[in-house]
Amino acid sequence: MESGKVLQPDYSFKEESVVITDRIISDKGSQAAMRKKYKSHKRIGLKGQLVLPGFINAHTHAAMTLAQGLGEDLPLFDMFQKVLFPMEKKLKDQDAYLGALVAGIEFIRSGTTSVNNVNAAWSRPVTKAFDELGIRGTLALTLKDRDIRTHDTFECKHVDENIRLVKSLEHHPLLTGMFGIANEVEASEGLLKHVRDLAKEHNTGVHLHVAETLGERGYILQRTGKTSVGYLHELGLLNEKTLAVHAVNVSKSDIGILAKSRATVVHCPTVNMSLGSGVSPVLEMLERGVSVGIGVDDPISNMSNDIRVELNNARMLAKSSGSPLSLNQLLSLAWNSRTYGYTVGHVKEGCFADIITVDMRNRLVPKRDDCRLRETIFAGSPVTNSIIAGKMVMHNGNIMVLDEARVLKRAQKAANRLVK
Ligand SMILES: [Zn+2]
Repeated sequence: MESGKVLQPDYSFKEESVVITDRIISDKGSQAAMRKKYKSHKRIGLKGQLVLPGFINAHTHAAMTLAQGLGEDLPLFDMFQKVLFPMEKKLKDQDAYLGALVAGIEFIRSGTTSVNNVNAAWSRPVTKAFDELGIRGTLALTLKDRDIRTHDTFECKHVDENIRLVKSLEHHPLLTGMFGIANEVEASEGLLKHVRDLAKEHNTGVHLHVAETLGERGYILQRTGKTSVGYLHELGLLNEKTLAVHAVNVSKSDIGILAKSRATVVHCPTVNMSLGSGVSPVLEMLERGVSVGIGVDDPISNMSNDIRVELNNARMLAKSSGSPLSLNQLLSLAWNSRTYGYTVGHVKEGCFADIITVDMRNRLVPKRDDCRLRETIFAGSPVTNSIIAGKMVMHNGNIMVLDEARVLKRAQKAANRLVK
């Protein structure tokens, strides 16, 4: 990739050529030096383009994309009862597959190259969709065994499917299986312990929603005398491979536990605002050493899969709540790869070649690097190319891995049938 303005570790830009060999960034430097060293490499000109690491969407539910927007205006548990659960009953494998493809198209178009996904089921169609998209990520199921209204427990039907998913991805080049839990309220202590043990046995992590609303926190407090974070910590669910989504209603002592456990909190500001769940103390968590990523969460309550919209919402929410985040702190959310166990989120030698380019030629942007970066992230400048593990999945704005128009047509038809 020749002569783009490549993002440096200090978030300045430098004109460089980037060499990709197999799936890795193998070298970078001036165009002349790289041409001399690598005569047979295929060349892609990037004049006038910014070169950035692909974004990491640390939490989403891609299979539900055909239900996009249906839960707007409903608080969390009402949204579960009125939209999510009925939709989960209706959703066929083909709907989940098409939903994941449509989400994937939007991920790629907006610069996301890694995605952590959870859904109640449909592990095979979602894996198939992610495979076709060539996207990097982790997949898990939202296991549960407790009714949120009656609090009665029932048999969790999808544990074996989650085990199969984890095993099937053991040697996958881009996808990793994780175990999932819906949330601390919908899972019994027995299920939480079982999932903890399974994750340990299979050397992977647990992806779960935690302390999203005051209702969840209150329920756990009443039942156990502990906060949600304290309860999960005591059960051994929090470690460096855990994705703890939301962490909105957390105490100062919870933040200490999260930092010490090295779990990654995933901030989902749009859905928190949409559902009226509260404001996650992201600034305090970052300042106290908690690993924090960012995710778009559920398409039922968030109509965008663009992580840049999420970053802008994180920025505005933090400012309006009196705890503003700096540009560097916001970017650290979008390039936090802690749970992946390998290096993405940088354009540097030795990292996986997950790279996007943004065409700035037709944008009016002040020359300062921080302005270029703000324009790219917060104003949604068009992503031109996307490379994942060295493979060009979008070139000059065209998705290369599937027939986009055909997928959208099929998905529209399926979505119309679902909401009839
Ligand atoms: Zn979620």
